[in-house]
Amino acid sequence: MASVYEKYGLKKVINASGRMTILGVSTPRPEVVDTVAHGLNEYFEMKDLVDKTGEYIAKLLKVENAVVVSCASAGIAQSVAAFIVKDDMELLYNLHSSEKYVPREIIVPKGHNVNFGAPVSTMVELGGGIVVEAGYANECKPEHIEALINPDTAAILYIKSHHSVQKSMLSVAEAAAIAKKHGIPFIVDAAAEEDLNAYYNTGADLVIYSGAKAIEGPTSGLVIGRKQAVEWVKMQSNGIGRPMKVGKEGILGFTKAIELYVLDPKKESGKEMVEKMTPFMDKLNKLNGISAKAVWDGAGRDIARTEISFDEKVIGKTAIEMVKLMKQGDTAVYFREYKANDGKVDADVRSVSAEQLDVIYNKIKSIIEGA
Ligand SMILES: *Cc1c(COP(=O)(O)O)cnc(C)c1O
Repeated sequence: MASVYEKYGLKKVINASGRMTILGVSTPRPEVVDTVAHGLNEYFEMKDLVDKTGEYIAKLLKVENAVVVSCASAGIAQSVAAFIVKDDMELLYNLHSSEKYVPREIIVPKGHNVNFGAPVSTMVELGGGIVVEAGYANECKPEHIEALINPDTAAILYIKSHHSVQKSMLSVAEAAAIAKKHGIPFIVDAAAEEDLNAYYNTGADLVIYSGAKAIEGPTSGLVIGRKQAVEWVKMQSNGIGRPMKVGKEGILGFTKAIELYVLDPKKESGKEMVEKMTPFMDKLNKLNGISAKAVWDGAGRDIARTEISFDEKVIGKTAIEMVKLMKQGDTAVYFREYKANDGKVDADVRSVSAEQLDVIYNKIKSIIEGA
């Protein structure tokens, strides 16, 4: 097969930045790729496929019900719609134009109303909801949410994410407790989280995950939760869910990815990452004006990264300039850039092979020697 890079003139990318949506997120395991191909070549009664894979996933995760959706964003929109529409056909078909009175307010901690690449509020509005922000940009206590609950409240939405404000925010359990006390549905967006049980077990009615992030599936999403709530999400495929449709290949591929994630996890340990990066660090440390060392994930996960420091006085370039130059040429190298104004970048090696580490080294060498 002609390389798509050549055919379309695409830039090759080495992803040393982690799980980045703008670079294509992750690469599924071969078993998942095979399942996608198999799925594409077969026919199914689609409702049967959705129901049976959902039952399989629910059993694996020990939850009441599950459905594969097209992505986590679609999961948010359809979860919001599910609790507004329930099984009302008039609302299902006329979500945004119906004049029927139903509760539509979705309470979100203000520090959770983030932009994950698109705004949380846009997904809520797509689902027919009205965003009501609780608390402040830097603080949300249980009482801030409780004060906003009224007969128009349709659900509470919690965004469990590194994108959210972490300081002085109520916990998932605290939010679940308020929802339960007032009999209000509780939705957790856990798009990039690794734990597929915690938020459901804490009392969420619906929990949403992104398919290609931690679970490393194809482009897809997962909604798990209470039996009836998930059935209402499924009904949305005859409403706003239709333009967010997931195909048979995505459903089957993602179900396989979840199975592997649960039953046969192959997570590279931090120690293995250090082993992989050691020859790379040793070589970098021999370059004039460059120093490299292993650093551990700031959020406490078992992830080691190579921190590369650029000495501007020696190499004549700032780290910010290096970041830019590394993206130019035939192969673009993406680092974690958030420390660049301190003269450093981190290389996340999870999606980088030993050969690609050599490419990165050679690129750095030729940039600083060309200077
Ligand atoms: C990535 C992300 C999403 C969106 O996930 P998609 O599957 O790309 O739609 C939503 N919420 C949070 C917190 C995310 O990190």
